Amino acid sequence: MEARARILVLTEDSGNQAQPTIQKLLKEAFKLVVEGVDLNPNRIRLEPLPENDRARNAVRANQWKERPPTRETIVLLELIAAQVMQPTGFVVFHFDTDRVWTDRHESEHRQKFEEIIRDGVRRVLRGETARPSDPRPRPKLTEEQIQTALDRLVILSPCYSIESWLYQATKELLEYCRGEHELEEHVQLIESWSANRALLDDVFKPKDDALPCVADHYNEELAKAFPAGDVWLAERSFFESVERLRSCSALVKALGYE
Ligand SMILES: [Zn+2]
Repeated sequence: MEARARILVLTEDSGNQAQPTIQKLLKEAFKLVVEGVDLNPNRIRLEPLPENDRARNAVRANQWKERPPTRETIVLLELIAAQVMQPTGFVVFHFDTDRVWTDRHESEHRQKFEEIIRDGVRRVLRGETARPSDPRPRPKLTEEQIQTALDRLVILSPCYSIESWLYQATKELLEYCRGEHELEEHVQLIESWSANRALLDDVFKPKDDALPCVADHYNEELAKAFPAGDVWLAERSFFESVERLRSCSALVKALGYE
């Protein structure tokens, strides 16, 4: 079966729950982008970087935020550029904003992503960077072709962190919290998040400060219960990321293909 989309899924989170968690959230986002989408994995391929790939260190260890870019980041930029030039290639890049929703415009990470990653990929596509691994001349692309390719690089950027989305699975979250202790303060907090889906985006450090009892121990399980439709309706950072995916017309076309 021919793939309509090959989506390289990059997440800065490490650990073996990270990929399944982000892939599950991404699939829920796709269902909002295209109603009734067929997510047959042979058609819509979600692909992590291979375990031993050098570029993986750049994503995982926050190296991509370093200036000047490290060797691993340069490998990553080349890899993203090659991926978005493929007719069915896309890249989804998850990093935490590390800011609450109200402060999102001051997010250093979002600025760095645009300056280091997106502009870095743009320079690769323009042929402005040295490419020691492959000295062959690259095809000349027009600015329009470059922009079309860059549109295939989409970010998932939760406020404050990925747990701000995952903790929206409030019923399951409450069970995990209660499994650790009986704390009325936490019960009330979780119930308030359940009653108003817009609140979690403005919680500072949900994993470390708000609910250290649950932390990131159950991320994969929480992702399975993520109430995507309700969270989207709250118009916070999940909505923002879904709408970014929707604005990639090539992706919408690939997802909506009959
Ligand atoms: Zn608790």
